[in-house]
Amino acid sequence: MTEELYHFIDGARVKGTSGRTGDVNNPATGEVTKQVPLASADEVRAAIASSAQALPGWAATPPAKRAQVMFNFRDQIRSNLTEIAELLSSEHGKTVEDAKGSISRGLEVVEFACGIPQLLKGEYSENVAGGVDSYAVRQPVGVCAGITPFNFPAMVPMWMFPMAIACGNTFVLKPSERDPSTGLRLAELMVEAGLPKGVLNVVNGDKEAVDTLLTDPTVGAISFVGSTAIGRYIYETGAAAGKRVQALCGAKNHMIIMPDADMSQAVDATIGAAFGSAGERCMAVSVAVPVGEETADAFVKELAPRVQSLKVGPYTDPAAEMGPVITAEAKERIERYIDEGVAAGADLVVDGRGLNLQGYEDGFFVGGTLLDRVTPDMSVYKDEIFGPVLSVVRQASYEDAKQLVVDHEYGNGTAIFTRDGDTARDFTQSVNIGMVGVNVPIPVPVAYHSFGGWKASLFGDHSIHGMEGVRFYTKLKTVTARWPSGIKEGAVFNFHAGSDTAPG
Ligand code: NAD
Repeated sequence: MTEELYHFIDGARVKGTSGRTGDVNNPATGEVTKQVPLASADEVRAAIASSAQALPGWAATPPAKRAQVMFNFRDQIRSNLTEIAELLSSEHGKTVEDAKGSISRGLEVVEFACGIPQLLKGEYSENVAGGVDSYAVRQPVGVCAGITPFNFPAMVPMWMFPMAIACGNTFVLKPSERDPSTGLRLAELMVEAGLPKGVLNVVNGDKEAVDTLLTDPTVGAISFVGSTAIGRYIYETGAAAGKRVQALCGAKNHMIIMPDADMSQAVDATIGAAFGSAGERCMAVSVAVPVGEETADAFVKELAPRVQSLKVGPYTDPAAEMGPVITAEAKERIERYIDEGVAAGADLVVDGRGLNLQGYEDGFFVGGTLLDRVTPDMSVYKDEIFGPVLSVVRQASYEDAKQLVVDHEYGNGTAIFTRDGDTARDFTQSVNIGMVGVNVPIPVPVAYHSFGGWKASLFGDHSIHGMEGVRFYTKLKTVTARWPSGIKEGAVFNFHAGSDTAPG
C-alpha cells in the first residue's frame, strides 16, 4: 500500500477530491512510495479563497508580530532538521547531509525575513512644498503564489513564502509533484510557529493547478522556479493576466580555468560544483573551460580519477557523495545526452552510464561523467542536462572563453579561477550573467543579497530574496500630505501636487 498525501488548506490536511494522483518515488530503489493528489481547479480555488480570507487580518498584523512567527519558525526548523532532511531525501534522493545543507540555506532567508520591520521602513521627505510632506511605504501585494521545482523542495519554497508572508501577503504554494512532502511539512511547522490558518496554503498538482493560479484574478503575484520552457509560459500567461511574475529558470553554468589558476583548488571546486546533488542544481557547473592546451591537459588529468571514484549511493548510506537522479525518465534523458556527445565526437573520459548498484538495481543512478573536447555545436553543450555530466570545452584564450559564456542562451551563474586581478575584474564587469564567482565555483548569493540569472535564466524584473524579494512582494505607495498649521474644523483642502497654494 502506498501512502496517500494531501493538500494543506486553511490550516488542515485536506484529502484530494479530483480523482487524479501522481506517483512519488524513492529514487534509490525505484519504488513508488506515495501517491500525491493532483488538484482540480476547484481545489486550487479553495486554497486561493482561504488565502484571500486570511489576507486582511495578516496584512494588518504589525511587522514585528509577523517577524515573531518567523523567529518561531526558525526554531521549529532547527529542532526538526534531521526529520525534514530525511523526508526530503526519501523523495528526492539526495544525501541527508546535502538535504540538511539546502534546508540551512532556506533557513537563512527565514532569518533575513525576521528583520522585516527594518526592511519595510519607508522614506519620508519633509516640506516638499510649503507645509506639504511626502512619504513612501511598501504594502503587501495580496495573495501570492509559488510554483517550485523538484530539486530543492525545502530551499526554493523558503526563498519565497517567508519573504512574502513577512511582507504581509498570504501565500499558496504549489510544490513539485515529484517530492511534495517537504512543502507540506514546512506549512505545518509555520502553523505550529503561530501563523494564522490560511496565510500559507499548500496545494499539490500539475498543469491544471498551475494554470488556475496563473489566471485566477485574486492572485496578485507569481514566483516560479523551474525549467525555461515552463518558466517562459508562466511569465507570459501570468503577465497577460495582469500579475507580477518572477520566473527563475534553467541554466548552463561555465567555469573558466585560467593558466594561472590554483589547479588543485579548481579541481576540488569542480567536484563539488559539477557532481554535488548529482548535478541537479541550477547553479551546478556543467561546462569547464580551461584556457590553453596545457591547462586543459592538467585539469582533465587531475579531475578524471576524482570523478571515477565518486561514491554514488542511496541517501541512507552516509558515505555516499552523490545520490540517484529524480526519475527513470531523467536517467534515460541524461544517458541519451552522453550518447549524443560521444556520437558527436567528444572524448568520453569517465562514463557514468549503465551504473548498477548492488541491492539498488532499479534505482535511478547515473555515475559521474566527464566529456572532454566538447564543442559548442554539440547538444551536451547547448542544453541543460541536469545530471552529473561535466563537459570540458577547451579554448585558446581568455577572450574566446569569455565569448562562450557571453554567447550562451543561459545566464544564471558562472565562475572564473585565476590569480590575476585584471582578468577577474574584466570578467565580473563585462559578462552577461546574473551571478558571478571569482575562485568560487557556485556563487549563490547569501540570503540578504538576491538570487537570479540573466538571459533565458530569468523572466521578470526581480530576482529572489534579499531586497529584491521585499520589492517583489510589496507595492510602493507614495503619500503627499498637507497639514498646515491652524487647520480649522470643517476647513476644505484641494491641493494639487507641485502647486504651492491650496485653494479653499
Ligand atoms: P519543471 O519546470 O518541470 O517544474 C517546475 C514546476 O512547474 C513544478 O511545480 C511543476 O509541477 C510545474 N510544471 C511542470 N510542467 C508544467 C506545465 N506544463 N504547465 C505548468 N506548470 C508546470 O522543473 P523541474 O524539473 O521540477 O526542476 C528542474 C528545473 O528547475 C531545471 O531547469 C533547473 O535549472 C530549474 N531550477 C532553476 C533554479 C533557478 O533559480 N534558476 C533553481 C532550481 C531549479
